[in-house]
Amino acid sequence: MGSKENTYEAVVTKEGREPLLQVKGLTKYFKVNKQHLKAVENVSLDIYEGETVGLVGESGCGKSTAGRTIIRLHKPTAGDVYFNGEDINQYSGKKLKQLRREIQMIFQDPYASLNPRMTVEDIIGEALDIHGLARGKKRKERILELLDLVGLDAEHISRFPHEFSGGQRQRIGIARALAVEPKFIVCDEPISALDVSIQAQVVNLLQKLQKQMGLTYLFIAHDLSMVKYISDRILVMYLGNMMELASSDELHENPLHPYTQALLSAVPVPDPKLKDRERIVVSGDVPSPLNPPSGCVFRTRCPHAMDICAKQVPEWKEVRENHFTACHLYE
Ligand code: SF4
Repeated sequence: MGSKENTYEAVVTKEGREPLLQVKGLTKYFKVNKQHLKAVENVSLDIYEGETVGLVGESGCGKSTAGRTIIRLHKPTAGDVYFNGEDINQYSGKKLKQLRREIQMIFQDPYASLNPRMTVEDIIGEALDIHGLARGKKRKERILELLDLVGLDAEHISRFPHEFSGGQRQRIGIARALAVEPKFIVCDEPISALDVSIQAQVVNLLQKLQKQMGLTYLFIAHDLSMVKYISDRILVMYLGNMMELASSDELHENPLHPYTQALLSAVPVPDPKLKDRERIVVSGDVPSPLNPPSGCVFRTRCPHAMDICAKQVPEWKEVRENHFTACHLYE
């Protein structure tokens, strides 16, 4: 187990409201040839009803595993997840089935996540059947309603996934997730595989659905520019660890962690206020999560690394109001 001692801090963004989802010290290791692959290390986060939290980092930084562990597709090595105030690690049977209804996931590759031998009616209908939500005429009406909601035509109902474009397939995946009337959706890189011209359409659709249905999203992406407009807050991860958490605007205007600064300096900035931002280039590859660096996990690529960075894990601290980071530069 890692030595990092992140104090759990609730970030209240919606005055007086309880979080819908609370993640406390979530850790996920996988055993690989008698070694531990440290995919997620001590992640703590509150997500409030109706908000979107972006989860960002390079490929292999543990963000997808974090998303899957949060919704219990993986069993955590340590840590707890509370949904509506209840510890979901204790759920089984009926309660777990109900949880599977309330929490849904939209996947990166809509083609791989849709059964090629099933029609759209079967794909969406299956979700309704599992939870006994509609039968016969009502079932078909509900499927048509869902197709309309995601911008697909009624005539699409009898078609197969290969007959659709990437963006349309993602809409089918969204309709399937919505069929069970979830409260919380983990969007796992839902636009990364799509053409740039289609990405904005899918983001707009997700935002429209959020307003209409009061949905809460965890939006996973490898690129900060992808999550900027959809996220209320953004959590930056590196090698399974939390690097920085702030509102989307604050993170873009005042990035504190050298890793966030590097991610942002790779993004073209249309805002003249931010044009003079120092360009930070991180060299080298992400180290193996089988053998992460001691101290700060980012130190092997950090342009500001100091002696202490190899010796001590930086503390997770609120450096500005509701703006958290883990870096010795701020201690
Ligand atoms: Fe860089 Fe040290 Fe901060 Fe890590 S703790 S990001 S190595 S300055």
